[in-house]
Amino acid sequence: MSLAFDVFVVDPKPIPSGVPGFAEAVGPATWPPSTSTLIRDGTEGLLVDCLITEREARELAAWVKSLGGEPRYVYITHPHADHFLGLPEILAAFPAARPVALAESIPAMQEQISPGYMQVWGGFFPGQLTSAPVAPAPLAGTTIPVGGSAATLIPVGTSDTGHSTVVHVPGLSLVVSGDVVYNQTHMWLSGSTPDSRAGWARALDTVAALGARTIIAGHRDPRAPDDDAGRQIGESRRYLADFEAALERSATPAELIEQMTARYPSLANPYTLWVAAYDLLGARG
Ligand SMILES: [Zn+2]
Repeated sequence: MSLAFDVFVVDPKPIPSGVPGFAEAVGPATWPPSTSTLIRDGTEGLLVDCLITEREARELAAWVKSLGGEPRYVYITHPHADHFLGLPEILAAFPAARPVALAESIPAMQEQISPGYMQVWGGFFPGQLTSAPVAPAPLAGTTIPVGGSAATLIPVGTSDTGHSTVVHVPGLSLVVSGDVVYNQTHMWLSGSTPDSRAGWARALDTVAALGARTIIAGHRDPRAPDDDAGRQIGESRRYLADFEAALERSATPAELIEQMTARYPSLANPYTLWVAAYDLLGARG
C-alpha cells in the first residue's frame, strides 16, 4: 500500500450580491472555488473538509467512491460552514466514517449550524443546503491514522476565522491548509481586525515552518498553476501585507477595491474583496 492524496475542486458558485455596484462592475457575485482532499493508504482514507451544498457533497462522495477510497475519518479544519455542511451527504455515503475536529474548534462549529447562522448560509444558497446539519465530534489527540501512516492536526490560531487548523502529512510532504493559505483566490478579510490579520500572518509562519513541499488550499483557483507551498505562502503573506497597506490608504470601499484590484487583477472571486471592503470601510464610504 502506498500513501497518496487527491483533490476534489468545485468552481465558484453564484450567490446573491450583497454589495452595491458589484454586478455592474464585475458580474455575478460568487462564492470562492473550494476543495476537499482525500488522503489515502490503499483503501483507507481521511477526507479533509467536505464542502457546503448537498449537490456538491454528493458529487464529492461519488468521487471518493470512484477512487476506491473508504474514509475512516472526515476531518474539518476550521469553523466555517462552507467546509462542513456537506457532512450529512458524506456520512450517508460512508456510514462508518467518523466526522472529527479538534475539541477547541467545535463550539464555533456548533454555532455555525445554529438556526440563526443556518438562515444566513441559506441566504447565500437557497434550497441547496442540508436541513439536518451535523457538527463533527472532538478528536482524542492530534493525529489521525491513515493506513500505515498518520496525519497530524496543527492548531494555528486565527486565519480568516478563529480556531483554525491545518493537516500535516509528513509522509507526503503535504499540508492541507483549510483557510490558512489561499491559492490565487482573494482572501476572506471581511470581519477582520488588525489583530486578526496579524494572527493570520503568524499562522502562515507556523505553516511555513512545517517545511512541506505541497499545500492544498481550501480555496484554490481552478486555474492556479500548481500547489507549490513556497509560492502560496509567499503570495498569501504578500496579500495580507498589501491589504493592510491599501486599507491604511483608503477612506472608502471603492479606494480599497481599486488598489487591491490593480495589484491583483486576476485572482479568483473578486466578490470576496468587495465584501471585505464594504464591511471594513462601508460606514465611512
Ligand atoms: Zn473557507
